[in-house]
Amino acid sequence: MTLHAPYDPSNIFAKILRGEIPAVKVWEDDQVLAFMDAFPQGEGHVLVISKVSTARNLLEVEPDTLATLAAAAQRTASAVVKALSPDGFSIMQFNGEAGGQTVFHLHFHIIPRWSDRPLKGHGSGGMADMDELKVTAAKIRAAL
Ligand code: 5GP
Repeated sequence: MTLHAPYDPSNIFAKILRGEIPAVKVWEDDQVLAFMDAFPQGEGHVLVISKVSTARNLLEVEPDTLATLAAAAQRTASAVVKALSPDGFSIMQFNGEAGGQTVFHLHFHIIPRWSDRPLKGHGSGGMADMDELKVTAAKIRAAL
């Protein structure tokens, strides 16, 4: 999928936003949704998306929405660190198929990192156990 294409409202995150497929939510407000990645690269992998923008990537996003998403990513990362005590964390954001993007609704990955745990592959980590994701999401939510 190229960097330059129309927004496809049938992408997975649009379906999650419309409630058509389930997601393990961490927190949300009227602008953003933070939810657990279903194929996590490690424990506590959270995705942050806009509820109002149809930007597919960083080039398309409105500056106000980008500011809102950055603040949401910071808030989420802070709660992830408080809840899970990692040694560090990575914020990732991919643009275009060649850039590693697989879902074409702009999103930020927040991935806690531990010195002794290798990161699983992007999109190749296997599907998480939903009950385990719910437990982790509740811990992160309690630390917001
Ligand atoms: P991208 O490759 O576009 O940067 O990231 C898309 C992310 O969405 C991947 O990390 C992938 O694991 C995650 N993902 C794919 N399908 C689903 C899904 O149905 N539910 C959730 N919660 N995450 C998904």
